[in-house]
Amino acid sequence: MIDPVVPFGADNRAGLRRLAETLGLPRLEPGWVWLAGAGPGDPGLASLHTLHAIAEADVILTDALVNRALLQLARSDAQIVDAGKRGGKPSEAQETISRRLIAYARKGLRVLRLKGGDPFVFGRGAEEALALARAGIPFRVVPGVTAGIGGLAYAGIPVTHRDTNQAVTFITGSGANGAAPDLDWAAIAKGSPTLVLYMARKHAGKIAAVLIAAGRDGNEPAAIISNASLDGQATIVTRLAALGDAAAAADTPAILVIGENVRLAAGLDWLGAISGRLLDPDPLGRERLSDAG
Ligand code: SAH
Repeated sequence: MIDPVVPFGADNRAGLRRLAETLGLPRLEPGWVWLAGAGPGDPGLASLHTLHAIAEADVILTDALVNRALLQLARSDAQIVDAGKRGGKPSEAQETISRRLIAYARKGLRVLRLKGGDPFVFGRGAEEALALARAGIPFRVVPGVTAGIGGLAYAGIPVTHRDTNQAVTFITGSGANGAAPDLDWAAIAKGSPTLVLYMARKHAGKIAAVLIAAGRDGNEPAAIISNASLDGQATIVTRLAALGDAAAAADTPAILVIGENVRLAAGLDWLGAISGRLLDPDPLGRERLSDAG
């Protein structure tokens, strides 16, 4: 945890509570569990519900991908438990985490389960929520900005654009036992103009090959965004046929996107523009085409 220069004290926490009260927001009550998303990295993407719960909680169980800076808002006497998985490394079993949530709630504590991104997007939040429901523990789910939408936006890639993709499919690249998931890849290749892949670095080459075999163009644009919305954010723009090699060279965590919407980054990389990158006003080449015609 980061040691703040000036601690976020009781007075600031009272201000946060006042803000929540003014807006009529609920409080994390004793005996309750909130399953809350922390967003992809930038602490500014955490919702007010999440910030408020961090400040009020007696115990916080946090995932590996949650930005530690957010925990500066926690009370100094709050118990912070690292309960996260990272890249398939051994970690606390899912059932153990659920059991702990239940035990803390039954003690009458205010329990916050913090997850990277959105708790219901490839984060096993639903499994934990079901365990709470089965145990009769009251809970609230606080959605978060998911890496597959917000992470793309930080790279200037809109998840949809009517000229490039009127649909998008979110896919996990890591199925049961860490293998590539057993999906109907041919149907996905044909049916979805844009694919966004989580946890897909390892199997990126294999997935790209299957998509190409099913008819996708190897020259289709693709991108890998590592550490999206964090200081070390890096985007690699490539083509589908080279996605496996590019992914192998990329840092983690990384989100992968395949589709024509990737081209829009040339015009919409607002973060790059802040550090001096020139944006292409016509990233899809539409004006140039109509000028020519
Ligand atoms: N619940 C999370 C996803 C958990 S799965 C969410 O909604 O975002 C973990 C995967 O999310 C990582 O392997 C990576 O593919 C993606 N991811 C999470 N944070 C990321 C970030 N800051 N940059 C890039 N990818 C990220």
